[in-house]
Amino acid sequence: MRTVVFAAVLVAAIVPILIILYSQLVMYRNNLYKTRFDNIRTNTDMIINVINSTGFINNQEGSSAHEEINALADYCNGRIVVVDKNLTILEDTYNNGLGKSCISAEVIKCLKSAKEVDISNGKKDVNEIIMPIINTDRELSGAIIVAYSNGDINETIAFVARNSLALGVCIIVVIGMFGLFVAVKISSSVNKVESSVNEISQGYLDKEISVDDFMETDRLSQSLNTMCSSIQRLENSRQEFVSNVSHELKTPITSMKVLADSLIAQEEVPNELYKEFMQDIAAEIDRETKIINDLLSLVRMDKSSAQLNIEQININELIEMLLKRLRPLAAQRNIEIVLESFRPVVAEVDETKLSLALSNLIENAIKYNYEDGWIRVSLNADHKYFYVRVADSGVGIPQDCIDSVFERFYRVDKARSRETGGTGLGLAITRNVILMHKGAIKLHSKEKEGTTFTVRIPLTYSNNPKA
Ligand code: ADP
Repeated sequence: MRTVVFAAVLVAAIVPILIILYSQLVMYRNNLYKTRFDNIRTNTDMIINVINSTGFINNQEGSSAHEEINALADYCNGRIVVVDKNLTILEDTYNNGLGKSCISAEVIKCLKSAKEVDISNGKKDVNEIIMPIINTDRELSGAIIVAYSNGDINETIAFVARNSLALGVCIIVVIGMFGLFVAVKISSSVNKVESSVNEISQGYLDKEISVDDFMETDRLSQSLNTMCSSIQRLENSRQEFVSNVSHELKTPITSMKVLADSLIAQEEVPNELYKEFMQDIAAEIDRETKIINDLLSLVRMDKSSAQLNIEQININELIEMLLKRLRPLAAQRNIEIVLESFRPVVAEVDETKLSLALSNLIENAIKYNYEDGWIRVSLNADHKYFYVRVADSGVGIPQDCIDSVFERFYRVDKARSRETGGTGLGLAITRNVILMHKGAIKLHSKEKEGTTFTVRIPLTYSNNPKA
C-alpha cells in the first residue's frame, strides 16, 4: 500500500510537470522562431523597396541597396544573395558568387511563380527565405535569397530547457518526499487498525480501537468498536443461554434423582408411595421433554437458519381451530374465551409456526388468568396487515418486567410458571415466528387487571430482508 500511494503521488506529480515544462518550452521556442522570421521578412521587404527604388537590378554601382543588404546579413548572422530574373548573381554578401548563375531549384520556383518560398523549418540552425523582386510596374526583375541563422535561439532554448529540467527535478524531489510522508502516514494508520483487529480476533473483544489519525480511520475504528460490542453482547447472551439451558435441563433430573434416591434408601416401601413417587418422576420427565421440545422449536426458528413454509391460509379458520383445541383447557378453570372476527382474512403465512405462536399467547392467557376469568381474541385487517389481539383478565405483568418477557427462560413468577408447566420459552418462540413473518408484537399489561398482546403481520409475505 505504501508503495502504491507513493507511486501514485509521484506519477500524479511527474507527468503534469513534464507535460507543462515541455509544452511551455515548445511554445516559447516557436514564438522566438516566428518573431525572428517576421523580422527578417519585414527587413527583406524594405530591401526589395530599396532595390526597386535605386534600380539596383540594372545598375549596382553606387546603390544604397548594397549597404542595406550587408546590414541585414549582419543582423541575421547569415548570407544574402540577389539574383536577376536570368538567375545571374548580382549581390552576394559572402562575395564568392558574384556574376555566376544561381541554379537552386527553390530560386527557380520562386522566379517562376513570382511568389515567396520559405524553406525555413525552424529546427535547423540555418534557414532560408526566397522572395521575388517585383517593381512598381508589377514586373518581376529578380529574387532575393536570405539565409539566416536560428542557432542563437536554439542555444537559448537549450539553456532554458536545462534550467527548467533542474527546477522540475527539484519540484519532483519535494513532491516525492511529501508523497513518501503521506504514504508512510496512511500505511502506519492502517497498520495500527490491523494490529488492533488482530488482537481482537485473538479473543480480546473488550479492547477499544482508537486510531484517529484520519477521519476515515477514526470512523473505521468506531465501526469496529460497535461491531465488537455487538459480538460481545451476542457472546454474553450465548453464554447466558447455555447456562440457562443447562440449569433448566438439570432441574427435572435433580428432582428425579432425589425421588429415586429416597425410594432406594427406604426398605419395604409401601406400594402407594412407590406409585406416588413414580408419578412425580413421570411428571418431571414430561417437563424435561417439554423443555427439550421448546428448545428445539426455538433453535429451528433461529432467524438465520429458519425456513418458512408459506401458504395462503384462512386466518379466521386457523384461530377457530386453535380455540377449539384450547377451550377445554380454559373450561377447567371456568375461563370464557370470546372470538371477535371483524372480517374474513386470508394471508400468506407458515401455518404450523403461526399456530404455535398464537397458541402460546392464548395458552398464556389461560395459564396466567384467574378462575372465572375471560379471554378476548380478535382478528382484524387493513389493506396491508392483519391484526390478532389476545386480551385476558389475568394476573398481568409488572411494568418493570414487560421488556423482559420475550427473553428466553424469563419468567415473572418462576413458581407459578413451573406450576402451570411453563418453560419460559413460549414468548421467545412467538416473537421469533412473528419476526420471521416480518411482523411485530406489542404488549400492554396492568398488574392484577390483565394483559393484551397485539400481533401485526403483513398479508403478503415478502422475502426481501429490508421489508
Ligand atoms: P412460560 O412458559 O413461563 O409461560 P413465556 O415465555 O410464555 O414462558 O412467558 C414468559 C413470562 O411472561 C411468563 O412466565 C409469565 O410470567 C409472563 N406472561 C406471559 N404471558 C402472560 C399473560 N398473558 N399474563 C401474565 N403474564 C404473562
